[in-house]
Amino acid sequence: MVALLVFLAFSGLSQAIGNDGADGKFERRDSFHFVIFQDVDLDEASGLRGSRHFEQQLLATLEGAFDLLDSLLRIRPDRKIEVFVWDPEIFDTRFEGLFRFPAAGFYGGAIHIRGDVKLTERLVRVLHHELVHAAFDAAAPRMILPAWMNEGVAEWFEARAVGHRRLSAGQREALLRAMKHGALFSLADLSMASFGGLSPDAAGLAYLQSHAFIDYLVETHGERDLVQFSSDVIRKGSLERAARRAYRMDLDALEVNFIRSLGLL
Ligand SMILES: [Zn+2]
Repeated sequence: MVALLVFLAFSGLSQAIGNDGADGKFERRDSFHFVIFQDVDLDEASGLRGSRHFEQQLLATLEGAFDLLDSLLRIRPDRKIEVFVWDPEIFDTRFEGLFRFPAAGFYGGAIHIRGDVKLTERLVRVLHHELVHAAFDAAAPRMILPAWMNEGVAEWFEARAVGHRRLSAGQREALLRAMKHGALFSLADLSMASFGGLSPDAAGLAYLQSHAFIDYLVETHGERDLVQFSSDVIRKGSLERAARRAYRMDLDALEVNFIRSLGLL
């Protein structure tokens, strides 16, 4: 759920995420665009056959996500993306403290997934979400994207992956409620590298608002402009210039229009 790359790089924790499984053993499998390292301890939990089946489903889902990312956002990472699948208990103990909210996966130079015995819808969403972070990072390794864009596009993409084209009624109500209480963040507030340091409630709203902003851009200007905006940001590094080119207005104006649109829900 979280892009931890920058956070990890700054805190030196990236070294803490090595290639050693719980017992020092990861099994490697390659597909066209991914390398999966699966903690062999998962075999003990699910039996070897169950684990293989899970791994095959995982690779098929990731390859499908890769194609969807290419067709929706025109982003194709040009190197293989590494995916670590951890034993759930090891994942929880090893990475607790990185998040103030439960995480089923995160991106930190590679995609890290809390292993499971079967591919749940939640995990399918997480795989799509983290792939966006991995793809942005592969395309612009030195760029620190504002979290509203990184998380907003990731949330939008994972929702699309499971068939949701618009925000749900519940999500809209939550936004409206936050607006009425004056609790909405500004885009500037959401421009940190990661929401990982926010409290669970604040993080929930930050993700939702970032998703809603991307959803607003797609609804009002279309997917093609989002493709132009995101590829421009990645290639040239300026959000303001990318916004003016894709949307013919600056980010402040887009933000004002977005907030106004919430009042009209
Ligand atoms: Zn994320």
